[in-house]
Amino acid sequence: MKFNTKTIHGGQHHDPSTGAVMPPVYQTSTFVQTSPGKPLNPEYEYSRAANPTRTALENALASIENGARGLAFSSGLAATDCLLRLFKAGDEIIAMDDLYGGTYRLFTRLYKDSGIKFHFVDMNDLDGFQKLINENTKLVWVETPTNPLMKLADIEAIAQITKKHNILFAVDNTFATPYLQKPLDLGADIVMHSATKYLGGHSDVIAGALIIKDKALGEELHFKQFATGATLGPQDSFLVLRGIKTLHLRVQRHCENGAKVAEFLQNHPKVERVYYPGLENHPFHEIAKKQMIGGFGGMVTFTFKTGKKEDAISFLEKVNVFTLAESLGGVESLANHPALMTHASIPEDKRKEIGITDDLVRLSVGIEDVEDLIEDLKQALA
Ligand SMILES: *Cc1c(COP(=O)(O)O)cnc(C)c1O
Repeated sequence: MKFNTKTIHGGQHHDPSTGAVMPPVYQTSTFVQTSPGKPLNPEYEYSRAANPTRTALENALASIENGARGLAFSSGLAATDCLLRLFKAGDEIIAMDDLYGGTYRLFTRLYKDSGIKFHFVDMNDLDGFQKLINENTKLVWVETPTNPLMKLADIEAIAQITKKHNILFAVDNTFATPYLQKPLDLGADIVMHSATKYLGGHSDVIAGALIIKDKALGEELHFKQFATGATLGPQDSFLVLRGIKTLHLRVQRHCENGAKVAEFLQNHPKVERVYYPGLENHPFHEIAKKQMIGGFGGMVTFTFKTGKKEDAISFLEKVNVFTLAESLGGVESLANHPALMTHASIPEDKRKEIGITDDLVRLSVGIEDVEDLIEDLKQALA
């Protein structure tokens, strides 16, 4: 089955009891047993362990990312937290040095006293990265493209190294989506999503996902999810599943509009720098062409010629079609100030070090008519 068919049919079955074409929202916490320890349907006894609406979503997730097991969580961070439970004191994790703010907060603050050691490195310096590997290294964590600086990491090249050393390799695929990039096919072991973003696609749900290539590891993570409980409810599972059915169409338009917005900004006299993997002058354009198939996404970040925070703020107060709000990946265009909003949890010196300056604006380009988006940017920049 090809990708566009998978988004609609992958892992899906008509409801066996009624023939319903869409999986019903099984709004139930528990399931009947015919005799103690004998559920009527052996797959379902309590919804923290499994719920049929969530199962339908998890099967769709596994299908579109080409994994053996999908797991749906109550948020992207809950998914990452579940993955971290595979590790113990003394283990080391190597992560990319430009991460979603909440992921960074989880690694550095919540797991500060866990005894797990985190390294944050430039994943494009493969030699430097390899030098950090030792017998305690258990996981490599990469986000590509990154939020908000659109840095890329070469998934295939990193996978060759992690395989050689028998280290798990996880990729946060939130920005690219499986429509553009399939980390498991490129050699990664686990894909993580904030399904709140493009998978859900309509800014109406908080959800997360892990998709695991190896079935046994998938079951181990399912056990951890079941034992800790940050599962996705049936209504929210339904919404994400519904979102996935149009993922391919939406991402196509996000890519078209994103490319046009990036080009407009690049030619605007008030704009200093545009970060978009589709631009030929983007430092990671070659990696993008290699591993992002069919487009470069809808996320565009830029800075002002003046370098002034006030200019970024004034721009963000003036946009009309773009909405000033956190989050991304929905059908509507959003604008965000990372230093004051999504990435405020990263200390200022660290932000400066990685390049999240105070004049940096991040756009999530939606699927509206691109002429309206560009008009809006024009008037807000003026
Ligand atoms: C939003 C986001 C997360 C966190 O997901 P939540 O659903 O908000 O918990 C992780 N990674 C990236 C790249 C994100 O954009």
